[in-house]
Amino acid sequence: MERFTRSFTQQEPIPEAGIEAAMAVLRHGRLHRYNVAPGEVAETALLEEEFAAFTGAKYCLAVASGGYALGCALRALEVQPGDPVLTNAFTLAPVPGAIAAVGAVPHFVEVTEDLVIDLDDLEAKAEATGAKVLMLSHMRGHLCDMDRLMEICRTRGIAVVEDCAHTMGAAWRGVPSGRHGVVGCYSTQTYKHINSGEGGLLVTDDEDLAARAILLSGSYMLYTRHRAAPSAEVFERVKYVTPNVSGRMDNLRAAILRPQLADFAAQRERWNALYRAVEAGLAGTPGLRIVPRPPEESYVGSSIQFLLPDWNGEAVREVLDRCANRGAELKWFGAEEPLAFTSRYDHWRYAPQQRLPQTDRVLAGLLDMRLPLTFTEEDCTLIARIIRAEVSTVWQARAVA
Ligand SMILES: *Cc1c(COP(=O)(O)O)cnc(C)c1O
Repeated sequence: MERFTRSFTQQEPIPEAGIEAAMAVLRHGRLHRYNVAPGEVAETALLEEEFAAFTGAKYCLAVASGGYALGCALRALEVQPGDPVLTNAFTLAPVPGAIAAVGAVPHFVEVTEDLVIDLDDLEAKAEATGAKVLMLSHMRGHLCDMDRLMEICRTRGIAVVEDCAHTMGAAWRGVPSGRHGVVGCYSTQTYKHINSGEGGLLVTDDEDLAARAILLSGSYMLYTRHRAAPSAEVFERVKYVTPNVSGRMDNLRAAILRPQLADFAAQRERWNALYRAVEAGLAGTPGLRIVPRPPEESYVGSSIQFLLPDWNGEAVREVLDRCANRGAELKWFGAEEPLAFTSRYDHWRYAPQQRLPQTDRVLAGLLDMRLPLTFTEEDCTLIARIIRAEVSTVWQARAVA
């Protein structure tokens, strides 16, 4: 019986250029982003400039984490305690967490079986709550029909904050993820598309928002050392009324990230080759639904999801155990208790309890797998063979029983 033996959490090393740049920062000792020698431009400021160019945004701010970027966006939008904020029921904990951290109230929107926000439910919840902000999470890299989503939000005056933790480098109809809404937020945590251990980036074209975000992140009065930032007059308008909520990125992390950003196009192709290998290997497995990818979407296949629609929990659990015994590590969104990174809207009890029957049904059969770049296409073909065999075995046994 074939087994897979490699780790699903092992990333590639930092590129040599990143290691060298990091060593240079360590050797000169100026790690704080505003600690620069005369004439020097900080690594952090350069990263912001490069990331603004990468996304086509006017302004960019580097921060301490993806979750910080989300919270900072809400504060910069002046969301107040008690305000309703719409968000995806299917997302990761830092998303509702960012909303709760500013005292606002998360209102969850259903997920479809294509794993995107349900736009009919979004319209209904927008009407019901009167929310003026949507924190849209492109969870697991799936982009919804962004044209229709933006239309729904534009007509109701809803500001869209995009959580692009899984979509750095993705696009809808050629418009980069993070550039549809008023703010785009990204994570550079180890399991995302570029890796500095911890870190986040925020982009926007709105000058007041950018100035508030920079001041919020803890720029003190050193904001003129930013390059992907609005002019000093814009800061004059907001500098006395914007609190400091420190969450800056440092030069060491920025130094590690810049060469990874430069390599990004090649990495995206490698991820997508791994994704396609698993997808092809799973195609046609009885009882298993592959999530279709719309032609308007260009994605980064750093993880793959599939559904065992309407299987009971016991059968899904059996598939998970059998795959795990052969080294194929799958995450299940249907588990009763939150486990590691995987949790569900009904586990987030700081939000008002809400019933989302469609989401319950989708998550009950949803399996997820990481595709680190340390895997080869052959690895992915092998993993798909294992999953296919185990899903088929359980499916047949149950059909007979
Ligand atoms: C990782 C992640 C974030 C941000 O996470 P940090 O760990 O704070 O960088 C936000 N949303 C989603 C969906 C994520 O997976």
